[in-house]
Order: sequence, then C-alpha cells, then structure tokens
Amino acid sequence: MKNLDIKKLDFESIYFDLYELNTGIYAAITAEKLPSSNAGFFDLGNYLVIFDTMMDPYATDDLIRASKEFTKKDPSFLINSHYHTDHLFGNRKFPIETPIISSSETLSTFRTNLEETLTRYKGIATRELKRIKEEINKETEPNKILEMNNDIKTYNEILEPTFELRAPDFIINDSFIIEGIENKVLINFIGAAHSPGDLIAYFEKEKIVFMGDLLFEETDPSWVTSTNPVHVPPNPQRLRDTLIDYMEKDIDIYIPGHGRICSKKILQENAEFYEEYFIKKTN
Ligand SMILES: [Zn+2]
Repeated sequence: MKNLDIKKLDFESIYFDLYELNTGIYAAITAEKLPSSNAGFFDLGNYLVIFDTMMDPYATDDLIRASKEFTKKDPSFLINSHYHTDHLFGNRKFPIETPIISSSETLSTFRTNLEETLTRYKGIATRELKRIKEEINKETEPNKILEMNNDIKTYNEILEPTFELRAPDFIINDSFIIEGIENKVLINFIGAAHSPGDLIAYFEKEKIVFMGDLLFEETDPSWVTSTNPVHVPPNPQRLRDTLIDYMEKDIDIYIPGHGRICSKKILQENAEFYEEYFIKKTN
C-alpha cells in the first residue's frame, strides 16, 4: 500500500472514528469490529450524500451530527448499499423528505424479510434488556455505560407497538452518478453478490471506493463451517470477480462494510476466501 496520509478527525463518538479521506469524502469506521458496520458521507458541494447507516441508532445519530458539523449541510440523499439491517437500521433517523436510494432487490428483500426481522428483534429485546441491566451495574467505564444505556433505549423502542424500520423509497436498477457542483460520486450497481442487489460508491479521481459488505477486513472460515452459516452470498462468483475487478483498478483506499480501512491485499484475501469456501465447492 502506498503511504497514505489519511486524516483522522477530532470528533467525539463512542461508536466510530471519523476520517477525511479526501476533500469532502468522509468515512465513519466502527470502533469495534463485527457486528457494527461502517458508513460514509460525501459533500459534493450542493449535495450531502450519506452512504449506509449504522446498526446502532445512536451511532446513526452521531453520523448525522458528524456530517452536519463537517459539511454544514443536511443530508440530500441516503444510500443503502444492501438490505442487511446493520446497514439500514438507522434509516428511520432520516427525515421523510430525504430520499433513501437502493436497488430494487434491496427494497424487495427488505420487504420479504421485514416481518421476520421485526419478530427477531422483538423476540430478543426482553432478554437483552434483562442482560444489559444486569451488566450495567458491574460496568465502570463511562463510555460502556453510555453505550449500554443507549442499547436499553433502543430495545425499549423496539418493544413499542408502533416501532417501524424505514424502507428505501428511491429505487434504481442500474449504476448512476450524482454530479455535484464540486465533486461527483459513481454509485455502481453490482447486482447479486454479497446480497441480491449490491451498490458501491466509487470516487474515480480520488481513488477511493466504499465497498459495502463486498469487502470485510477479516473473513472467517467458521462462517461456512458452523451449523448456522452466516454471510452466504447469493452470487459468490460475481462477488469474487468484483473484488478482483476493483483490486485491479487504480484505487488507493478501500472502505469495507466491516473492519478498518483496507488495502489491495485484503481484496485478494477476500477473493481467495470466496473461491475456497463457496466457488470450488459448488463447481
Ligand atoms: Zn451485509
């Protein structure tokens, strides 16, 4: 990897570290690894584009607060890279006037999974509340206590009968460009790879790409071998090919869906992981 001068910004959040990767291109990199996710926001001069929300609603609050503080703008668009809840749980934190852009596959999968997702959250909420309330009494670290209190508020909110997740409402079926007066971002439609309809955000000139969950800092064979496998991609071949394709492009900074900022080496590792555990097996 080239010697990159990535500026970590002075921003107070218990959930993420904030970086300015290039003028107006910001990445919020989760303070912990899985299951927390990464996000970004882009100041295009006249538009403020948010790329993904974060699992924790209070992390999304921090993301919106950071975007206001550093760009002096309100969000113009929110993009959901894919339908997994850890990336769109924060949708409901955005005003209804802010369009939420996703692929049609993301919207349809969101809809088919919505009831199951809500049932799952409501199902664990009571147990989690009990566990957190027990643990909070033993905790001494102020940030941990704050985080636990936020979790309590979140689970209480989930248990309210009116609790809803906001769906994407600006639906696209192809790649597109948001052309701002100062910068532009390419939103590339990958199709089925990690999810049935993945989107990534690419800054060609600045050599930066936000890969969503097409890229993880760490992959783990136990995802495949466990009795309840996670991260089974609908199209491992396209996922692998996309990783190779973007590895070969003139890009310096890769933002994964989970984990720290990545170099080309991690894309190679991810590609080999899908080759080994998902592609070879089925051929
Ligand atoms: Zn995902």
